[in-house]
Amino acid sequence: MARKIGSRYTANQILGRGSAGTVWLGEGPEGPVAIKLLREDLASDQELVGRFVQERTALLGLEHPNVVSVRDLVVDGNDLALVMDLVRGTDLRTRLDRDRRLSPEAAVAIVADIADGLAAAHAAGVVHRDVKPENVLLDMQGPLGPGGSHPALLTDFGVAKLIDSPRRTRATKIIGTPDYLAPEIVEGLPPRAAVDIYALATVLYELLAGFTPFGGGHPGAVLRRHVTESVAPLPGIPDELWQLIVQCLAKAPASRLRASELGARLRELLPLVAGMPPLDVDEPDVEPAEEEAPAAEEAAPAGERVRRRGAVPLVPGAKPADSNRDTHTSMRVPGPDELAGGARGTARVPRAAGAPRPGSARHRAVARRRRVVLGAAAVALVAAAGVGTWLATSDDDAGATPQDTNNSAPATP
Ligand code: ADP
Ligand code: MG
Repeated sequence: MARKIGSRYTANQILGRGSAGTVWLGEGPEGPVAIKLLREDLASDQELVGRFVQERTALLGLEHPNVVSVRDLVVDGNDLALVMDLVRGTDLRTRLDRDRRLSPEAAVAIVADIADGLAAAHAAGVVHRDVKPENVLLDMQGPLGPGGSHPALLTDFGVAKLIDSPRRTRATKIIGTPDYLAPEIVEGLPPRAAVDIYALATVLYELLAGFTPFGGGHPGAVLRRHVTESVAPLPGIPDELWQLIVQCLAKAPASRLRASELGARLRELLPLVAGMPPLDVDEPDVEPAEEEAPAAEEAAPAGERVRRRGAVPLVPGAKPADSNRDTHTSMRVPGPDELAGGARGTARVPRAAGAPRPGSARHRAVARRRRVVLGAAAVALVAAAGVGTWLATSDDDAGATPQDTNNSAPATP
């Protein structure tokens, strides 16, 4: 089912489908290419097409071994297509789904590659804004690197920025996972290069641990954790590597390393993690869907974790209102110490067996029980005071009530 894209390209076969459109294996004048054909509703948006054309030079200018280069932009009738380097391999999400965790060596090598790609982009003034395993492609035809990892390339440069116009965000944006969002984005600040570092450090943590540091549960809770919670330690990794992760997950963007530094530091650490097996850490409970989706939890086969990450849309009113639920609408403004990465609460702390995880439903239930106990005590006090008052009042009034008067007064003829 070959299909012509503009005058120079043919799309031959679907490679994958994404949120912005379909990616085809295609052919161009210079050989095989990947063609991302944007969704029809995006391609028919004149303003969006205009911005794509405007940003053309920024999009096409990026050339780096760890960046999937955009070779061409085709606007043809109803088609809007990005012609990219073809990467023969798989994306990092697929790899994670298969292996759950990577060896520290492979994880560090892959993230160092992406840091190098980001360094080139940032030097050119381009912020990616959507660094996540889905946008990292592993080139299976490239040479094997440390830990048996293939070269990693970052794709979808500039696409998030172009598609996320305020208008579109309101109207049709598909909200992705909030797991990789830097706290300053949550607070509404403009995304600068440091947001990519935060997202990449989140990816590194995830490759090592098998879960993201602040993910799990309702998206509003995830957003809140980005702003207020500090990252829980991962047992078993060298301290130097841990310090690097902590620094790049700092709440304050200025405290994070720059991409070039991160790449260099990670490569320095490679010998330290050489040959280490994947970590054996206990995945924290996913916040049970106590409020949001009990049905989904019940429907899951016994023993299988319910992973609901990003499954609930950030749309007000999509679920029944619940004042107990932590949502972005009830986020408090963090203090300066928290923004500077101060250790207040910790998310997803590896914990003793049976102990409730902070933020977990059980933990919240315990906290709620505590609140209930306190509340009950307060009610009891008020009630006691009230009862006392009522008793006092009754006593005072006793002799004055007509009935009492009637009853206590001697019968009069
Ligand atoms: P979106 O970002 O719109 O959600 P993706 O960029 O993730 O879509 O593309 C969907 C799938 O297409 C990916 O999972 C990947 O396997 C494949 N793909 C994307 N870009 C390329 C490429 N340059 N070369 C080969 N395959 C690609
Ligand atoms: Mg993508």
